[in-house]
Amino acid sequence: MKSSGLGALLTLVALLAATSLGLLAFRDVRLIGETGLAGELPAKIGPRTGRTPLYCRSEECGNVVSDEPGAPAEACPVCGSGLDPMSPAERRLLPADTTVLRRQYTAPGHDPMLVSVVFMGADRTSIHRPQMCLEFQGHRIVEERVIAVPLGGDPPLKAMHLGLVHVVQAPDGTERTAEFTYTYWFAGGGTTTPFFMRMQMAMAAERVLKSTAHRWAYVSILAPRASAGRDSAEVARFIGRLWPLLSAPAP
Ligand SMILES: [Zn+2]
Repeated sequence: MKSSGLGALLTLVALLAATSLGLLAFRDVRLIGETGLAGELPAKIGPRTGRTPLYCRSEECGNVVSDEPGAPAEACPVCGSGLDPMSPAERRLLPADTTVLRRQYTAPGHDPMLVSVVFMGADRTSIHRPQMCLEFQGHRIVEERVIAVPLGGDPPLKAMHLGLVHVVQAPDGTERTAEFTYTYWFAGGGTTTPFFMRMQMAMAAERVLKSTAHRWAYVSILAPRASAGRDSAEVARFIGRLWPLLSAPAP
């Protein structure tokens, strides 16, 4: 995948995270603990090494660079502005107590996998149905199904797997089509679900019945889409390595 494609991928996921967070009042609700997930993403997953993307603080610039170990980038090489692990849109749109973990995992001969974990905060934190946000942004969903990720001795993790087609515009104005897969699930209160509505219902039931709210996380993986079937197998293998590291952090 060329660097321009990676840039588009990073911009796309930042938009997804930012625009999918809606407004839902959480006033008078007691937030319980944490999500139980690890506080950071692993340095390596299988053969792939993780890098944290850094976003130019200038929204007009929109540049994304990778944080290289040993040689941390301090300023945008395009415009000289500072760099931030959250995109300007995320800073602008997300409640202050929302946190985002993001790493791009790459290895020669393997598809890049961009992992994002959005930890929802206590105040006006919710997310819209991801499909709605994707379509609103002009992405065409060409595939939608639940996949079961084998987890060794544990029951499989169920995740929603989408095939996306969107149009990328090059700086010279020419357009080309890019295809991605977007795989996500929600985790909170000791459970997971691939279904947005089920997560919403669990949150609503807690709020109404107990005036409490567990913190939920929204985990997503964006990857290039080569062909239906093959890429979901590769994403599933990747998630099978990621999720045990993320959901059962070392004590
Ligand atoms: Zn810049």
